[in-house]
Amino acid sequence: MEPGFELDINCAICGGSGCPTCKQSGWLELLPCGMIHPNVLKMGGIDPEKYTGFAFGLGLTRLAMMKYNIKDIRLFNSGNLKQLRQFVK
Ligand SMILES: [Zn+2]
Repeated sequence: MEPGFELDINCAICGGSGCPTCKQSGWLELLPCGMIHPNVLKMGGIDPEKYTGFAFGLGLTRLAMMKYNIKDIRLFNSGNLKQLRQFVK
């Protein structure tokens, strides 16, 4: 929904040349934000004729991906202890 804004970081996996992690763009979305769609407000029981909304989020997992060279964000939620334990010293 417009207006929207996002803060992107250069992909540290490929150095910005494009890879599956950044969907060949060279960039990763770190802080997306924008107006909430009126239908979302309506489904939440809020009158979109009376109120508007603004939503944003900070992708800490994306920062961790870049710091630890993790290529797939789904690994964070996989429950794979071998994957997670590699960061425990
Ligand atoms: Zn990349």
